[in-house]
Amino acid sequence: MVAQVIDGKAFAAKLRAQVAEQVATLKEAHGIIPGLAVVLVGEDPASQVYVRSKGKQTVEVGMNSYEHKLDASTSEEDLLALIDRLNNDPEVHGILVQLPLPKHLNEDLVINAIDPAKDVDGFHISNVGLLGTGQKSMVPCTPLGCLMMLRDHHGSLSGMDAVVIGRSNIVGKPMAQLLLGDSCTVTIAHSRTKNLAEVVRRADIVVAAVGRPEMVPGDWIKPGATVIDVGINRIERDGKTKLVGDVHYDSCAEVAGAITPVPGGVGPMTIACLLANTLTACTRANNLPEPKGLTA
Ligand code: NAD
Repeated sequence: MVAQVIDGKAFAAKLRAQVAEQVATLKEAHGIIPGLAVVLVGEDPASQVYVRSKGKQTVEVGMNSYEHKLDASTSEEDLLALIDRLNNDPEVHGILVQLPLPKHLNEDLVINAIDPAKDVDGFHISNVGLLGTGQKSMVPCTPLGCLMMLRDHHGSLSGMDAVVIGRSNIVGKPMAQLLLGDSCTVTIAHSRTKNLAEVVRRADIVVAAVGRPEMVPGDWIKPGATVIDVGINRIERDGKTKLVGDVHYDSCAEVAGAITPVPGGVGPMTIACLLANTLTACTRANNLPEPKGLTA
């Protein structure tokens, strides 16, 4: 079997076009422009790239982008004061604090200071609880993107066996909640899981979010299973830097029914879902009907 490639880049472009259309309608019908504020503390090079890309794509779909770049030595008090201002700014519908933060800042404290209704990353403890109890919430962007691609590929996920490898708060755990919400039988595997290969072999859906290059080989995959590769790992091969996922693409693609590539799979969906979340937050803030298909 040769797996169907799930093209996250094309899917994300479609999603952004859908968001742009809804943004234009909001503007025309109600004079409202969704606004996303991104806060970057310090000069981490990867974070700078992400923030630039988020700002560019926000503007491209017709939303307002507000970038707040703070010095690495910014105090917690000053950062919290900025978040408070953004929480109270009616032009700002989404707030994202780029992680990781410099070590002297308490990430949990900072994230939980964001108004949950504007928490477009879905990391606020209230949103985690709402998602866990199946209530309307802001859903973390990366797992939301994975869910959208899975729904698009399969239609219903009901009754499928899903294995999520990785139990982080930003990917593994919310991914498992979303799959459970779609009536999968969900196993969360992690660094202490025994017989990981056996566990993964049971799965109709495998989501790998580990951060270990090409860790999942093809012989762990049940024939016909769908493989979603969240991992982004930079490796040196043949003297060149290359991006690879957490699954060994070539061997898994021989066995799987469908697979996301790296790059061009989950990655592009993450920012597209951030824009979708900002639009959702904006419609909720204005008591307008939520556009369909943009959230879980
Ligand atoms: P993390 O380090 O917070 O969590 C990794 C998880 O993997 C842990 O729960 C750990 O228990 C598990 N793990 C580690 N070694 C293992 C092993 N040998 N066997 C089984 N499980 C093991 O990482 P994260 O933030 O969840 O990110 C995971 C990967 O996804 C990284 O490569 C990251 O770069 C990538 N990522 C991509 C996107 C995107 O937009 N595509 C977004 C977030 C993260």
